[in-house]
Amino acid sequence: MNPNLVSIVPCPDYAPDVCEAALIAVLEPLGGLDWVKPGMRIGIKANLVTGAKPEKAVTTHPTLLATLTRFLKARGASVVIGDSPGNLYNASVLNRVYALSGLSEAEEAGAELNHDFSEKDGFHADAVQAKRFTYTGWLDSCDAIINFCKLKSHGMMSLSAAAKNLFGTIPGTMKPEYHYRFPNPNDFADMIVDLDEYWKPVLHICDAVTAMEGNGPTQGTPKHVGCLIASKNPHRLDVLAATLIGLEPKDVPTIAAAVRRNLTPESVDEIEIAGDWKAFLQDDFEIIRNRNSLLFVGGNNIFGRAVRGAINACLASKPKVKTSACVGCGKCRDICPAHTITIKNKKAVIDRRHCIKCFCCQEFCPVGAMRVHRSPVAKLLTRGKESSK
Ligand code: SF4
Ligand code: SF4
Repeated sequence: MNPNLVSIVPCPDYAPDVCEAALIAVLEPLGGLDWVKPGMRIGIKANLVTGAKPEKAVTTHPTLLATLTRFLKARGASVVIGDSPGNLYNASVLNRVYALSGLSEAEEAGAELNHDFSEKDGFHADAVQAKRFTYTGWLDSCDAIINFCKLKSHGMMSLSAAAKNLFGTIPGTMKPEYHYRFPNPNDFADMIVDLDEYWKPVLHICDAVTAMEGNGPTQGTPKHVGCLIASKNPHRLDVLAATLIGLEPKDVPTIAAAVRRNLTPESVDEIEIAGDWKAFLQDDFEIIRNRNSLLFVGGNNIFGRAVRGAINACLASKPKVKTSACVGCGKCRDICPAHTITIKNKKAVIDRRHCIKCFCCQEFCPVGAMRVHRSPVAKLLTRGKESSK
């Protein structure tokens, strides 16, 4: 069997019988779950970036998690589901996230919801960016990891699917520090690919039944795509996912980083796919286009650097407060790794001189008031339906 195969099947909705049939079908070309042996402890790394009802399309759907849990339990494995949201990493936050995200359904199916909030130090000798890193300790108790991600648009990385989901192995309180450590999107993407390579989940499954378009990954709009995607290679899965929603794979920094490491080709045409993927192509998916493919490289002398800086400043996406929607809660100020947001007259104000464009503020604004703003020049240079409000 081709270990790089990507499988895609219809999954029109989240009815339990529909999810069961779709999960069986999407895993079948990959050899099913034959690798699961009795007594194994399987960790399902879900996307639980914040607590949100399943219909908001922020988190991996609980019916899919419950269905996979039943399959794994039937093979004699035990199952633990976990993630580290972008918040404090403790029982009170996670219990709220589990409850809001409907994970009692997975618990009833026999899954344990992670309550080990230890943090460990890791060392990855082959890493390109993050040789030393801190991770969520619950993963150490697992014999194998299944990465069960959600298809979403993303402010900084354009795409949240398989590769990006492993950023949740970093404890939530440390995530802003990682943004500050890797302010360049390409370095940040390399750090994420380092995590993918370190953890090497046995299997990646993407919940693309109801995806999220627009102001993702937490405040976008649910969008029906109607499929499940699976692969043993997260980057090839992401190339297909990006293509389906109208992103150029090369515009997704994690895909570009994986291409540089020969982990995936750049084009969907070079990937072996089981399933009629063209049936799920979206022609009106609201994307957030990353500026990377537009960036001007230029020469490396003083003149080249000056021209590059000026041009790229015009092209770069920026966080922008939609003042009418801002409620002045201060969450963006508290999470900003560059400490460059203040609250004035109950509205968020960004001091752009120090902004590293990590979009943590956009990701965690609870009312969607922080948006990704693209310059008119950048918009002119690209096509497609984009989130720009
Ligand atoms: S998190 Fe959102 S609503 Fe709260 S202050 Fe910032 S922009 Fe305003
Ligand atoms: S203002 Fe927003 S994008 Fe800029 S550094 Fe702070 S959190 Fe990141």
